[in-house]
Amino acid sequence: MRGDLLELSELETPELEAALEARGAERFHARQLYRWIYKRGVTDFDRMTDLSKELRVRLLADFQVSSPVVVSESQSVDGTRKFVLELRDRRQIEAVFIPDTPAMTFCVSTQVGCAMGCGFCLTGKMGLVRHLTAGEIAGQIRVLAAATSMLEYPFNIVLMGMGEPLHNYDQTMKALRILHSEHGLAVSPRRVTLSTVGIVPGLQRLAREPLMPNLAISLHATTEEQRTALVPPNRKYPLAEILETCRQFPLKKRSRITFEYVLLDGVNDAPEDARRLARLLSGIKSKVNLIPLNPAPGIPFERPPDEHVDRFAQILADRHITVSVRKSRGRDIRAACGQLIVEGGVKKSAAQQVALLMK
Ligand code: SF4
Repeated sequence: MRGDLLELSELETPELEAALEARGAERFHARQLYRWIYKRGVTDFDRMTDLSKELRVRLLADFQVSSPVVVSESQSVDGTRKFVLELRDRRQIEAVFIPDTPAMTFCVSTQVGCAMGCGFCLTGKMGLVRHLTAGEIAGQIRVLAAATSMLEYPFNIVLMGMGEPLHNYDQTMKALRILHSEHGLAVSPRRVTLSTVGIVPGLQRLAREPLMPNLAISLHATTEEQRTALVPPNRKYPLAEILETCRQFPLKKRSRITFEYVLLDGVNDAPEDARRLARLLSGIKSKVNLIPLNPAPGIPFERPPDEHVDRFAQILADRHITVSVRKSRGRDIRAACGQLIVEGGVKKSAAQQVALLMK
């Protein structure tokens, strides 16, 4: 990859139109380029056969299209496929394809690692290595959709892979605009769910976005003290402030905020936690997604017994809260929620990573 070339994967359609015009080419070629790259998965200008030879030569001289490269793939017994992808700087991230949920879903990363440090999450143990660019975020979808033969079919996207999307706000929103382009994959924001620990200024910006994805808040606790212990950003953006922001959040008709709650045995799975959660959510159009922990080495918590999970769900349901229990997908390949960590990446040796996990 050459540093003097303009990286086309980082450009929204209007930016690409302007870049073409500035180089003496017609603006409408942006639409053709988007079709090739996003709808057909073709990034080699020479294979874009409806472009003139002269234009292809000019594109080759001025532009490049980088894509994350699949370096490994594993498939779970339940059909979930986890991909390790390598970026231009050889950093690695993970993205997951989850079939039949009931729609097809891609779970993608917004950062290499994560700065939030949630106590039950392997990615949090990595710390933040760097933000992903918009082209890298959208590129995961492009590459996975091609790898799973989904380029021509509707799919859902969840921003629940590595990283906190609102900590990388501008690039995440730009990626959604790239994916939304009618000339490319045309992904409706209704098919996208952004999951956040609740960075309040980010939520306030999101409330004003023209392209607003569905919102999921990773709550995980019902008291300030308990949440600060499990989700350290709670110190800066406390539970009460997050819930108040959610109350004010401009939801579309029939949409609701999803509250994710990882159930940890003996920590946050007691009946009084469930009752408190129901009280906290009053006045918010919400649903609750309970996620029994996916245990992993280095994570100092256990998965609660099924009876505790059922009891917790029943208490919420009795209080008229829509509740679902997330079936864990891809646990056998470490593709489940909170289990994404690039093992053997370029940053740290395997031994260093194990040491980090044991901290
Ligand atoms: S749960 Fe999400 S926000 Fe928390 S450390 Fe893991 S990746 Fe980051």
